[in-house]
Amino acid sequence: MSTIMQESTTTTITDVDTADRVPPITCPSWCVDGTGHADEFSRDDQWHRSQDHQIELSQYLPYKSWGGKLLPRYAWVMLQQSHGEATNVHIGEGDDVEIRMTPDEARRFAMQIMAGLAEALTEDTTEATT
Ligand SMILES: [Zn+2]
Repeated sequence: MSTIMQESTTTTITDVDTADRVPPITCPSWCVDGTGHADEFSRDDQWHRSQDHQIELSQYLPYKSWGGKLLPRYAWVMLQQSHGEATNVHIGEGDDVEIRMTPDEARRFAMQIMAGLAEALTEDTTEATT
């Protein structure tokens, strides 16, 4: 008797769970999910994200994590795309600062950094040799 009730309960939970999920979508090649977000219950939760790329920031003091451990500060960049929207580039520092850009804005920002860096390194080289 108790075995029958247990089987019935398990079947019911599985049926409801599957019925409430939205069909999977196609992930872009850079999405870390890669399954089409098949386990989500809403289209709004089926958003794509890339792996975040992090760079340690050596000129900032470490911060204390929730567990009390000292961790280095870092800058990061990743791609995100919400359902029905264009891909965006997210750039941030730790968990507190985040800037969202279009891919074109991010490309122009990166080019400005590279141009400024090239100019600064050229000046540094000139100063070092004179
Ligand atoms: Zn995805």
